[in-house]
Amino acid sequence: MASGGAPGPAPPGPSSPRADAPAPPSPSSFCRLAARGSDLPAIAAALASNPALASSPDAQGFYPLQWAALHDRAAVVTLLLQAGALPSAANPAGQTALHWSAARGAVAAGEALLSGAPDQASLLAAPDAQGYTPLHVAAQHDAPAWLHRAAGAWPGGLAAARAARDAHDRTPLHWAAYKGATDAVRLLLVLGADPGATDDEGATPLHWAALRGHRDACLLLVRAGSAGHRLGGGAALGVRDGTGATPTDLARAKGHGFLADRLAVEAAKARQRELLRGKAGLLSRLAGAHLAPLTLALALSLAWFFEAGVVWARGAPPPDAPTVAAGWAVAALALAGCACLVATARADPGRLPVHPSLGKGEDGVRAGGGPSSDVAGPQQPPSSQWPDASPKSPLHAPHASTDVLSHPAFAHPPPAARPDWARLCVGCRAVRPLRAKHCGATGACVSRFDHHCPWTGCAIGGRNLAPFLGMLASFTAAAGLAAAVAGARLGGLMAALADHDRRAGAGGPPLQTTTPPLLSSGPPSGAAAAAAAAGLFLMFDGAVALAVAVLTAVQVRQVSANLTTAEAVGGPGRHPYLRGHGGRGWANPFDRGTCAANWADALGGWAGGRHGPARGSASPRGRRRQGGGNRGLEMV
Ligand SMILES: [Zn+2]
Repeated sequence: MASGGAPGPAPPGPSSPRADAPAPPSPSSFCRLAARGSDLPAIAAALASNPALASSPDAQGFYPLQWAALHDRAAVVTLLLQAGALPSAANPAGQTALHWSAARGAVAAGEALLSGAPDQASLLAAPDAQGYTPLHVAAQHDAPAWLHRAAGAWPGGLAAARAARDAHDRTPLHWAAYKGATDAVRLLLVLGADPGATDDEGATPLHWAALRGHRDACLLLVRAGSAGHRLGGGAALGVRDGTGATPTDLARAKGHGFLADRLAVEAAKARQRELLRGKAGLLSRLAGAHLAPLTLALALSLAWFFEAGVVWARGAPPPDAPTVAAGWAVAALALAGCACLVATARADPGRLPVHPSLGKGEDGVRAGGGPSSDVAGPQQPPSSQWPDASPKSPLHAPHASTDVLSHPAFAHPPPAARPDWARLCVGCRAVRPLRAKHCGATGACVSRFDHHCPWTGCAIGGRNLAPFLGMLASFTAAAGLAAAVAGARLGGLMAALADHDRRAGAGGPPLQTTTPPLLSSGPPSGAAAAAAAAGLFLMFDGAVALAVAVLTAVQVRQVSANLTTAEAVGGPGRHPYLRGHGGRGWANPFDRGTCAANWADALGGWAGGRHGPARGSASPRGRRRQGGGNRGLEMV
């Protein structure tokens, strides 16, 4: 298996140049001057007096260009190249200046080097003595910004990031996984690196991450493997390397028991998913829809039970006018709840378009499938599907691309700002907007993700929150009203039966009771059966009413504060944008100040998604409607 030694350039060593640069400086002194990079006139003067200095290595065999690149001195790199330094010059270990810039994530120096190179693609693909290209080195040293620039702007960078191989057939993803470079792993997966690539020992990146006990890297690789890459359905967990070991075996053998247990759980889940997918017909469809058909059946059965067994129960007296009216109201509310359930399940909750190359071409499958699979197509620019953020928000950003290579937060980050690489979804291979989350059950990122609801079989997001709340409210009202009517009916029946028994026991006329109409329609046994039915209904319906009422209350409280369930549960710990001043406590930037404004904000996505133009429409009207309908919800 992998050797334990850290690959990449030799340790750069302290760059503690002395200020007293001799004139003319020795190559070693000049290298220190170049590394420091603060005295451009002195460097220019030294080069003017002795141009050969630009190409002269120091005592260790390292070139001035390497030292300048290592310390990201782009101006010095340019000066050296103008003086005749060769970008392809390599030290005894075969490393070029570009290798050294990659080791430190020195993007500006790398750009300066490539701009002065006659063959940029060759320089980017040049291997050192161990076969590591600069891409490998960047992955080994967790330099995602450097990798991003290489893939997005430098010739041949994207292909090299995906598939460059070292002397042992290892890709940059292998090395990022081995080093636990989580950000680099995430970026490489989003860029299309193959999690199933094997090296000359038959090991995948997951083997390497498991070997070293890197939990986060392992989970990213498992998630990517189950989301449409070549190794779908968690199959990466079952791959055996040349020694016959799975990633789980390696983790356990190296003493990472906790990780091994976690990987075993993931493997079991993957097997379960495969089992369900493998079954054709009704079982598969039911599994896909989760409990939605059961919920519908339960609601309709309870409504029927209420009408037939409580309102119009045999053995009980005919209902009075208020009871009949309540019966109709319960039926209407139950049907409305069912309609809302269907609308919730059928609506697009706000799925994020997957990367176009993943959508229909590259792997032939689209993770998650579902009704909105067609929203992701190469012909539809993602930015037309994601409304701009509200200018009121401190988190406002002017653009909402989902492509990591063109997204401004990653392609053009503000100076000194570190991109939030955690916003990259390896399942969708896209940049997640704020508040969006990957729904593991449906396999897609969902805008303003609230939670995955097993009862409706779908994710609840910004665009189906309104019918979901309508369903909860309708079912709560129906169940509550039905419980009240059933309680009243049961009370009346019980009182009448008790009265009947008392009078029968006293030998008096049984029908001359205080409630003669109640039992006048049938024998006492019929009334007892009706009372039992009402009691049974009250028991079931009461449980349902209580559960639905609690869910409704929780949702009302959250929507009133413009929080999602995911945010309320995860809090600032899992959602950095909810952190207060100084990173402590809560501060909800989406709170509009009033309940009404928060409700309008939260439900705006439904208006945009339901009544707006078809998704992907590029008409100005459509964009305005979608943007206006959901302002502030789906920020980049
Ligand atoms: Zn996703």
